[in-house]
Amino acid sequence: MPEIRKINRRNFMKTSLAAGVGSSGLMNRNRISDPGKQTREIIIKSYRTLGRTGFKVSDIGFGAGFLTDPSILDRALNMGINYIDTGEHYMGGRSEAAIGRVIQNHDRKSIFITTKLNLRFGSGKNLRDRFNASLERLNTEYIDCLMVHMTPDLKDVTDEEFHSMYRDYKSDGKVRYLGLSNHGKEQSIYGATPVEMEDVMLAAAEDGRFDVGLFVYNFLQKEQGERIIRKYKEKDMGVTLMKTNPVNVFNRWVEGYNRDVERGRTISEGRKKLKDDYDTFLKDAEQFKERYNLSTNEEIRDAATKFCLTNPDVHSVCPTITNFDVLNNFVALSGEVLSDSDSSRLSDYETTLGKYYCRHACGICHSSCPKEVPVNTIMRYNHYFEAQGREKQAIKKYSVLTGRDAGNCSECTGYCEITCPYGVSVQSLLIHAHDNLSLA
Ligand code: SF4
Ligand code: SF4
Repeated sequence: MPEIRKINRRNFMKTSLAAGVGSSGLMNRNRISDPGKQTREIIIKSYRTLGRTGFKVSDIGFGAGFLTDPSILDRALNMGINYIDTGEHYMGGRSEAAIGRVIQNHDRKSIFITTKLNLRFGSGKNLRDRFNASLERLNTEYIDCLMVHMTPDLKDVTDEEFHSMYRDYKSDGKVRYLGLSNHGKEQSIYGATPVEMEDVMLAAAEDGRFDVGLFVYNFLQKEQGERIIRKYKEKDMGVTLMKTNPVNVFNRWVEGYNRDVERGRTISEGRKKLKDDYDTFLKDAEQFKERYNLSTNEEIRDAATKFCLTNPDVHSVCPTITNFDVLNNFVALSGEVLSDSDSSRLSDYETTLGKYYCRHACGICHSSCPKEVPVNTIMRYNHYFEAQGREKQAIKKYSVLTGRDAGNCSECTGYCEITCPYGVSVQSLLIHAHDNLSLA
């Protein structure tokens, strides 16, 4: 893996991390005051049965991909969250270790913990050793659900070594249920995942041995997710969701562009084209906000979450929870469903701003690119960077794509854009992502 060099112009990351720490001042304040209304406590209001597991999970789960501070999870459990999603390699094992510390102070039986093993990290004894290492870090006698992480290929759905290990540990009482996760085709730090999300998730349903799935579903990426949800309902499987917020933050790019202009730096033709696209985006976004009297992007994000909660066959939405503010915001949405005005707002967003979102788990345009640029993977890394505040991770993941990265896109005709059925301005978005993710 290429060495990560010093990140010069990204010192703002330190600022955003500091902001995250600062927000821990909220740790004992799970209350919000709505203007003109009484202060109300923020707690989980709805629990749903996770398919055939029979376990009643909180409709808002805890995505622990970025967890290192145990006090955030402790607060979440006190608020009523009881579904935790983690993985063996999240934060290099520190996510599981933080969970292991926190659950000692809570009723273990009331919590459902899902962790994941990545089949690309090795098999056989190595897989069993890694399962036991997860169990040890989680400091528990059993894992509720063991998932195949980002199931790499259709053949991995039926991987006999994995299933044999699961059977052995299930009979020992070390694990209770089986699951799998996937977010579509990718070329990542861990290798290639060549199949569609839908194909993998439906193959698992047909296989019959899996109890729970974790996949992408949001108001701009509905079709695949809805087909999976229907099949999982038919098979009485648990449905948990990731990447439910497709609303990105674009202002950073424009700020950076304006700063470079002020400093007299040379602006490439690619960036100039991008600036035109972003000027249009900002105008569209402002008009959208004015139409609905919105003051922040968070109001759209909340409606996006409610869109998922409105589907009764979704059991737990698992946002990545990185600080107390994010925790409060999501728990406040528990039990909510879309109002008519939320619905028309999202539908208008799809019409006017949907072209600025490259659909997670899509990849339709990949075969059109002469440089084999993994468009969807890059856009996902940029989502980590901008929407989830996981800048360092995103840059590290992107660094392995050298030669197939979006540095190829500035001088291209934009074949991917012509192919995209959603009309996404993807060439501009790729140039923008490269600007974020490449090292200065
Ligand atoms: S640009 Fe369009 S076709 Fe390509 S991955 Fe994104 S949404 Fe799919
Ligand atoms: S802009 Fe060109 S190089 Fe970049 S992904 Fe699209 S087709 Fe490939």
